[in-house]
Amino acid sequence: MPTSIVTGAAGFLGSHLTDKLLSHGHKVIGIDNLITGNVANIEHLMGNENFKFIKQDVTEYLYIPGAVDFVFHFASPASPIDYLELPIQTLKVGALGTHKALGLANAKKAAFLLASTSECYGDPLIHPQTEDYWGNVNPIGPRGVYDEAKRFAEAMTMAYHRYHGVNTHIVRIFNTYGPRMRLKDGRVVPAFVSQALRGEPLTVFGDGSQTRSFCYVSDLIEGIYRLSQSDFHEPVNIGNPLELTVKEFAERIIATTSSKSELCYKPLPVDDPKQRRPDISRAQKILGWEPAVSLEDGLKLTIDYFKKRV
Ligand code: UDP
Repeated sequence: MPTSIVTGAAGFLGSHLTDKLLSHGHKVIGIDNLITGNVANIEHLMGNENFKFIKQDVTEYLYIPGAVDFVFHFASPASPIDYLELPIQTLKVGALGTHKALGLANAKKAAFLLASTSECYGDPLIHPQTEDYWGNVNPIGPRGVYDEAKRFAEAMTMAYHRYHGVNTHIVRIFNTYGPRMRLKDGRVVPAFVSQALRGEPLTVFGDGSQTRSFCYVSDLIEGIYRLSQSDFHEPVNIGNPLELTVKEFAERIIATTSSKSELCYKPLPVDDPKQRRPDISRAQKILGWEPAVSLEDGLKLTIDYFKKRV
């Protein structure tokens, strides 16, 4: 029975990853300091003898007795308003937290998987984004704390791979949505869905012509699981290539919720990327992976979750 560590286990992605690993017969030790994570996301696992939870900040020394086979580093604030409120913690968990998680993997001779991000590409000048694109990031803008921490985390991961021979993996995660997102985390899916369900105007930033591509969480987690089992060490994009403008996305949410809400326009946040769509050729080739859940089906599952919470 393999043992996996998941940092950020009480977060949106960390909790879904934990469920997936348990379903594949892993023992899981989840670590989270709960600054953006929520125990409600893992409360169904309390009492499960294969799951253990440690409340800890992963920027501090990680003491884990016994054998460990995988370390999945998912701890980080992950929404643009979180970076504004928690800039130092965001930098620390991407930099110091990644160092601690890699140190643990190295000491235990465990495989390591970094949750990286499409934000490594910044406001991309090539489209769609392939993994060999180095990006267009403003290091000193408000999003720089996240983007640069994750870029540093990738550099640190490759250094542990090259210097210490750790079996490392890097996933660049594109916009993902689904149940367990925080209602008020400020990201577009919880914002639009909760506004539509309440009959309030949907707050489109800028003129809504910027694009995003949204991946349902179960697809993303499947891709990540496959990557963790592979022997591939360079970054792999995981996301859904279906690209919509934010305005089109708002209209889809109004239609799917049968809401009477209208759109209202708010200023575009600083450095908000104008376009984003993953090129997933690498994931298709190396992992045999591509998304399976349609936007329609994924939105229905997400809306059902938020209906019980707004
Ligand atoms: N956005 C919006 N209204 C909102 C929240 C976000 O129009 O209430 C836009 C935001 O400006 C961006 C896109 O939706 O262009 C996705 O934003 P999100 O915060 O979800 O993630 P990002 O992809 O920017 O990291």
